[in-house]
Amino acid sequence: MSTGLSISDGRVGIVHYTLTNSDGEIIDSSQGRDPMPYLHGAQNIIPGLEKALEGKVADDEVKVVVAPEDGYGEADGIEPQRVKRSDLPKGQEWDVGTPLNADMGEGNMIQLWVCKSEGAWVWLTANHPLAGVELHFDVKVIRVREALPGELEHGHPHGIEGSNSHHH
Ligand code: ZN
Repeated sequence: MSTGLSISDGRVGIVHYTLTNSDGEIIDSSQGRDPMPYLHGAQNIIPGLEKALEGKVADDEVKVVVAPEDGYGEADGIEPQRVKRSDLPKGQEWDVGTPLNADMGEGNMIQLWVCKSEGAWVWLTANHPLAGVELHFDVKVIRVREALPGELEHGHPHGIEGSNSHHH
């Protein structure tokens, strides 16, 4: 069913995407998976990509190069912190790129990522793995639909078809 809706705030864009770095290496892709739904105008996706998708309709293809400042930010240059693997929560491999929510006390949670993993040691950084990386997106719009009230309330879509439920 084609509705002819264009992507704008309060609508759900459903897209296939491939993300590569400036060397053409694939960082992430939805190919082989279901397309990705996102709620436009709700900061579900990085600003540079959201801006490029504004006004697009189903079947549109968008190529956009997003600079780090409109993506995951610049790397801040602070030295990664080395911690003992045995001090980290169990049941995780702690490979490079694994996120960790660190409790800084008084309810302050910060997001860290593993940037190096070697023997008994793991290095943690506050820089997103894609900080400082120029992002090359190749996006195809599969469908655009109106967001449901429950989705607007939550600030994210509930699947491709959408629902008002709180079950994710
Ligand atoms: Zn929700």
